[in-house]
Amino acid sequence: MKRFALLFIVLLFVVAACSSSDINDLAAEGLAWTELLERRLAALDAPADDAAGARGGRTWYQVFVYSFFDSDGDGIGDLNGVAQRLDYIQGMGFDGIWLSPIHPSSTYHKYNVLDYYDIDPEYGTLDDFDALIEACQARGMKVLLDLVVNHSDLNHPWFTEHPEYYNIASEAGHGQWRALPDGRFYECQFWDQMPDFDLENAALRAELEQVFAFWLGRGADGFRLDATGEYVSGNTAKNIEILAWLNDSVKAIKPDAYLVGEFWEITNKVYEYYESGIDSFFSFPFAASDGYIATLLLRDNATIDEYLERTAYALESATRFNPAATNAPFFTNHDQARAAGFLRRDSNLIKTAWGLSLTQPGNAFVYYGEELGMSGSGIDENKRAPMFWTGEESAPGMTSGPPGMGEVTHGFPPAVEQVGDSGSIFSYVREAVLLRRKYPHIGSGAFEAIDTDGGAKSGAVLRSWQGSSIIVAYNVSSEEARLTLPGSIQDVLSATGDMPSQQGGTLIMPGYCIIIMAEA
Ligand code: CA
Repeated sequence: MKRFALLFIVLLFVVAACSSSDINDLAAEGLAWTELLERRLAALDAPADDAAGARGGRTWYQVFVYSFFDSDGDGIGDLNGVAQRLDYIQGMGFDGIWLSPIHPSSTYHKYNVLDYYDIDPEYGTLDDFDALIEACQARGMKVLLDLVVNHSDLNHPWFTEHPEYYNIASEAGHGQWRALPDGRFYECQFWDQMPDFDLENAALRAELEQVFAFWLGRGADGFRLDATGEYVSGNTAKNIEILAWLNDSVKAIKPDAYLVGEFWEITNKVYEYYESGIDSFFSFPFAASDGYIATLLLRDNATIDEYLERTAYALESATRFNPAATNAPFFTNHDQARAAGFLRRDSNLIKTAWGLSLTQPGNAFVYYGEELGMSGSGIDENKRAPMFWTGEESAPGMTSGPPGMGEVTHGFPPAVEQVGDSGSIFSYVREAVLLRRKYPHIGSGAFEAIDTDGGAKSGAVLRSWQGSSIIVAYNVSSEEARLTLPGSIQDVLSATGDMPSQQGGTLIMPGYCIIIMAEA
């Protein structure tokens, strides 16, 4: 007992000495955390200077603006703050950002829009928006705006000036409706402060086409479409028609605009919406604590073969109606618990989950802070906690978080410590994003499972793109796996740091490992 205690104290000392050395250097040099972060980012290998357009698939970073980076000291993230941290985002290899809604709104999350033609004063001005676009364009990065047209804010002037834009009826319909003073009812599926539009109304469509033109004209590269399943709640055919109008309208203004829809549906019904011509829909069946990725990692009876079959089916479903369409894999978003919690703060599981998500076909998305293994579950505000740049909560740039947020305690170090640490979750996610740049096959290639005799938790796929192929091999268990798989190892994503080896035509994979191979 005594010896154990002594060993513990010695260990504690060693750990403290290691983790504090950089902080001491920082103090000695008098560096602000932002400068330290920039130095560490600058020391990383720069992402390849490739042309994202040529490789098809992009990798997007989802920025919840309120909680990202505060440029003016009011504790609220803002557009200038996003612009100031583009080095971080691009340094990870992302080539685009999705901004949570930025228009004037009465809430912190801003999913209830008061004016579709302006920027919320908490976030900045139209000039700030233009500057952010210019900064992104200079880097070859794209910007997606969150287009919230299922509903507006109740106090949007349109609600009184153009009641015909909204679903108002003499009797309440299905779901959520509220009474108006005149005895009629308005639809409000999410909240009584968010009346639902009638997206079949021609005058509203003409108005919204002006909105699309306004933002595309200012340099937005496309939109993330909020709540498409509620456009006409429960009516797939009408929603597909509305989405087809939206797609045609946007592409008429900007033919290469990118549209990705949120249809929060965890069954295969999510793929029906591809008939609309929209480029991508988020792959909800693979995401969150109950999706295929978490299931594969956490449940003994879930097999890699099923996972790969479902991945192939998703890609096939996307392209059935529109050969140019592709999936939008993601693992968590602003409405879902962060991965660290349901993956038990196990860095091997967290890393491998991102390795699986980021090697899926399509345009992949990563929610801010997931690259750090940030925590956040329960109420929505907790899922949108301040970006964990540094452990000093009140340091310049740190946001104070949404009003009403509970206490969120992180299980892994902040960005300033994870950047440059080759064993960190950050470094793993970055490596996975960079592999998407290096191998266009991952985002854009065809997908075909290979027979490897790998067992329940290990297997491989062939990814073919423009006449060349790579093999992606997976071992998603803690145990070593042996696959019958000849070929030469090109790149390795190893959650543990252990490396694979080969014996003849057998690939020996350590636990929690993903390998890119060239065909034999
Ligand atoms: Ca601010």
